[in-house]
Amino acid sequence: MKAEIIAVGTELLMGQIANTNAQYLSKGLADIGIGVYFHTVVGDNVGRIKEALEIAKSRADLIICTGGLGPTQDDLTKDVLGEVLGRPLVIHQPSMDKITELFARRGALMVESNARQALMLEGSEPLANETGLAVGNALTQDGTHYIVLPGPPREMKPMFEHEAMLWLQSRFQGLQPLHSIILKFAGIGESLLEHRLIDLIDAQTDPTIAPYAKEGEVAIRLTTRAASADEAAVRLKPLEEEIRSRLGEYIYASDDLTLEEFIVRKLGDEGRTLAVAESCTGGQLSDLLTSVPGGQGAFVGGIISYTNEVKRDVLGVPAELLEGEGAPGAVSTETAIAMAERVMELCGADCGLSVTGVAGPGEAEGKPVGLVYVGIAVRGRQTEAVELQIAGNRSTVKLRASKSALYHLWVRLKS
Ligand code: ATP
Repeated sequence: MKAEIIAVGTELLMGQIANTNAQYLSKGLADIGIGVYFHTVVGDNVGRIKEALEIAKSRADLIICTGGLGPTQDDLTKDVLGEVLGRPLVIHQPSMDKITELFARRGALMVESNARQALMLEGSEPLANETGLAVGNALTQDGTHYIVLPGPPREMKPMFEHEAMLWLQSRFQGLQPLHSIILKFAGIGESLLEHRLIDLIDAQTDPTIAPYAKEGEVAIRLTTRAASADEAAVRLKPLEEEIRSRLGEYIYASDDLTLEEFIVRKLGDEGRTLAVAESCTGGQLSDLLTSVPGGQGAFVGGIISYTNEVKRDVLGVPAELLEGEGAPGAVSTETAIAMAERVMELCGADCGLSVTGVAGPGEAEGKPVGLVYVGIAVRGRQTEAVELQIAGNRSTVKLRASKSALYHLWVRLKS
């Protein structure tokens, strides 16, 4: 089945609002196994709406219109659809009663145009509007299915989810929804991950494999179409197992968890606490950790020790590590270790994590941009530091350094 979404509204064409309804509807339809082939946007104009509907009729089996159901003269969707399908508009009495009651309650004068929102195409099914006044419509004519929804997302979404979905499901038994699982990776870049799975990616048909990267994280979505979740699981399992056998050490979650959510949850579950000492990340690591709701308890706090003075005087990193003849410097294994241990002690935490590096754009201490050390202190165990070479501009280096620090903490905690 081919679906087309027609968004009606001159505002959309003028760039005053973005067509988020089309995006939302496409996703909702994909979830129940209906493929959207076309998105059309058309202004509030009879001739052009008609033209858009005629074109859609010629190439789609399901046409969903959104917008243009309001009371004003430029709200034309139902009128034009009625004209195209040769159906008059009739009053949907329950909607009319609702509108009349609302005006009566407000003591406002109801004019004729308000009643337009209660109109529906003769012989269509009304779709109730839980959060507004304009009634929606659904009908099938000459083998093509039509759904008419309001424009405001707060009206369109509940009508689609509750009313239109039921109508679609009653019409099309055997709709095969998409089922996905997500595998979240840390400690491996997108290109290496793709390289390790390239034969599976090249050979994919069903299930499909889609790698994607965002904000310093890499994920893979495995998707299949199936009538039930159980049937989907049978199809997805072998592929998931194959990926786990190749890259299992990098997989930290099989749902859509961020790395910081995972770490905070893991520390919480194990009853451990974490403190951080940040230099080049300037608080970004703490920001990630505090963006997890309910993170208190696991993440206790930390120190942003950007300058050598703060590293020395506040954190307590030995001066001889930072400056002077033969000192390893602020960006070094030794300093990363000292920072992690000091912050763990100062904050009375079970673990200390530190980041010190060169975020750029210029080098520092004669060390190259992107060179970062992460220190990982775990009470009762030998403290370690990891050297990283991170590519990218300043903000990328800061984000990747923060995410890498969390990754190395995870590696340390599971070893
Ligand atoms: P109303 O009954 O409020 O007049 P309507 O069905 O006539 O609703 P429109 O007048 O076309 O809808 O649009 C009303 C508002 O809904 C727009 O100003 C915009 O904020 C939002 N809207 C309309 N279409 C879209 C769309 N495709 N994507 C996102 N928002 C939209």
